[in-house]
Amino acid sequence: MIENRMTVNRIKSRQQNSATKRNDCLRCGTCCQKGGPALHSVDLEKVESGQILLKYLFTMRAGEPIFDNVRGMIETTDTDIIKIKAKARSSVCIFYDFTSSNCGIYDNRPLECRLLKCWDTGAIEADYNRQRLSRKDLIVGIPGLWELVMDHQERCSFTRLAKAAGAIKNGKISAHAEDEILEMIRFDDSLRTLIPSKSGMDKEILEFLLGRPIFQVIHIFGISYDTDNNRLKYISRPWASISWHWDQIENQ
Ligand code: SF4
Repeated sequence: MIENRMTVNRIKSRQQNSATKRNDCLRCGTCCQKGGPALHSVDLEKVESGQILLKYLFTMRAGEPIFDNVRGMIETTDTDIIKIKAKARSSVCIFYDFTSSNCGIYDNRPLECRLLKCWDTGAIEADYNRQRLSRKDLIVGIPGLWELVMDHQERCSFTRLAKAAGAIKNGKISAHAEDEILEMIRFDDSLRTLIPSKSGMDKEILEFLLGRPIFQVIHIFGISYDTDNNRLKYISRPWASISWHWDQIENQ
């Protein structure tokens, strides 16, 4: 699934196509409905102080294929990207209120929301990839937790996932690739049970701590997980635009 549709390019093209140039916000809510913002270092204090709670965040983990809003293409991210979640089954930022067309955290809205002006995307383009906030910034001080997250990152990395998925040829999943991906699904799932039960943490922060569950993100690679049979199923060709990345990995 391609997240983060607060697409600068799309907004820019709308701006270019518009006959009337504007220089103020009409509060149309378009940008908030295209996805929540990613957080940057300057947003750290908002999270640490509880103005933005961890349960409203999720992580796109290093190595994950993402849509780069500025370059307008799918790429793999080389750092964590911490983002504000969307409302269920939509791309609308969780803090956007349709009734009032208001932001629920307007006074504490993150940097990207402050920079994004649909009539002038220069500011957001300049800062879009700079000084992104990472999971480490937020949890490194909690004993044991960062180590657990690092262990998960290593065992369930997107590089490992992409390598295993890259072995799927002509719609056929080899036994080795299936074993490897199923092992990642099991480990990921066990941590998602273990962390709340041992620490009392809210389950809603798991997508911040560990990213989205492996059984969900494998859709990116054209496969799905059949929970009843504990098997993988080939569903489609993966995004053609990330196949280059697999080729690179295979050649490493
Ligand atoms: S945080 Fe507020 S301003 Fe930013 S996208 Fe969400 S609703 Fe819009």
